[in-house]
Amino acid sequence: MLVTTRQPTQLHIALQQYATRALPQVQAHQHIASGQCLADHPNGVPVYAPRAGRVRSVSAQCITIDVDTDSHEAPALVEPHDHFLERVRQGAMVGLGGAAFPAHHKWRGTPHTLVINAMECEAPIHCDRALLSIRPDSPLRGGEILAEALGIARCVIAAKADFAPIFQSMLPRVPSWELFTPAPHRGIGAERTLLRALDGATLHGPASEQGYIVANLGTLDALARWWDHGFALTHRLVSVGNEQAYWAALGTPLPDLLPDTQDAQNTENAAAHSRTLRVGGLLSGTLSTEHHRGLQAQDNSLSWDDASTAPLPAEPCIRCARCAPVCPEGLLPQQLHWYQHQSEALVALGIDACTTCGACDSVCPSHIPLAAQFMRAKKTLRTQRSIDAMAERAQARFAVRNARQTRRAEQAVERRAQHRQGDKRQDAIAAALAKRRQRKAS
Ligand code: SF4
Ligand code: SF4
Repeated sequence: MLVTTRQPTQLHIALQQYATRALPQVQAHQHIASGQCLADHPNGVPVYAPRAGRVRSVSAQCITIDVDTDSHEAPALVEPHDHFLERVRQGAMVGLGGAAFPAHHKWRGTPHTLVINAMECEAPIHCDRALLSIRPDSPLRGGEILAEALGIARCVIAAKADFAPIFQSMLPRVPSWELFTPAPHRGIGAERTLLRALDGATLHGPASEQGYIVANLGTLDALARWWDHGFALTHRLVSVGNEQAYWAALGTPLPDLLPDTQDAQNTENAAAHSRTLRVGGLLSGTLSTEHHRGLQAQDNSLSWDDASTAPLPAEPCIRCARCAPVCPEGLLPQQLHWYQHQSEALVALGIDACTTCGACDSVCPSHIPLAAQFMRAKKTLRTQRSIDAMAERAQARFAVRNARQTRRAEQAVERRAQHRQGDKRQDAIAAALAKRRQRKAS
């Protein structure tokens, strides 16, 4: 496995995070140091400078930095917080398995089991393999830190068969830990599927609500580097093509990472031939025409989608039912396919349990991109749910505001009535005094 480091001359650092967008704290033309905080948001994680340099531009989406050629990765310029999860947030820890979900949210609760997910099983992703070839101890160290900080009693390394010997050799260091090597099948690396294989656990909602933390090797490596050496998450391992991997700064322009691969001659050629960049795995990844953006925390793999990986044209479903028995979640993919645009039906059919593993795709004789459809449907559902939640919150605020206005109006009416009564009393007194004066005068 060839792992090399990239020295970028410019960085395009994205500010969009999982559910929020970090707010810039630097300005154009400002000189910044390696490890300096560039942006932050209380609901997300801070963004640090991977290298020193000069800020070329700042927009709501991205900070562009001209990198000082002699600069290096450096520890974050912050005082580490005492509280574990706050310190995790401070180190910009997000899941490096592909979702970039903030770790300080995922690691809440009182977990009883830590599962170290070393099941990297989706081609062409191989950044975990690359990590084990350069820093095999580091994910284990991250696991120890996490387990100790959260008081987790049980730690399990779930490793695919090729990785198992590497962990087996390290087990004497953590004798109470278990090594679990599940039977390989499609989608086994997905959190839900893995926990069912491990404990027969069925997840209803996030794993942490049922006492499990499932952490990817890259995330634990990042935690160890932050905890022991003060490096916030400013770099990641990204696999490129089928063989290569880079240790690259977040924000590194993708063309700097792609040209040396056997999959692509260079970015210009790629653009000329309208090739599509695949970010992530063949099933869970996304296709992008944005070849010039900067590397982001969720980008675990880059490859070109060429004729050999392009899907065959889809044909109508022939209701052969081959997709149902292979679904590890016991779903009915053909039904999900039929109702892919009907949210209520999809929820009733259990779309939330779909891990988009693609097992159904692999057997479908009509070449229907089922997993991609389900991924889109889940995204639409998530958006719809967040819109509904926002609408509910707005409605609640509106009801409170209405009640407040009604109460104020009633209070005003009451005050006016009291004033009127007061005025009448004053009038009666004034009339009585006038009468008395008249009597006296006569
Ligand atoms: S429906 Fe298809 S993609 Fe979803 S979990 Fe089942 S087999 Fe995997
Ligand atoms: S395998 Fe494909 S064609 Fe057969 S029922 Fe499932 S979706 Fe339809």
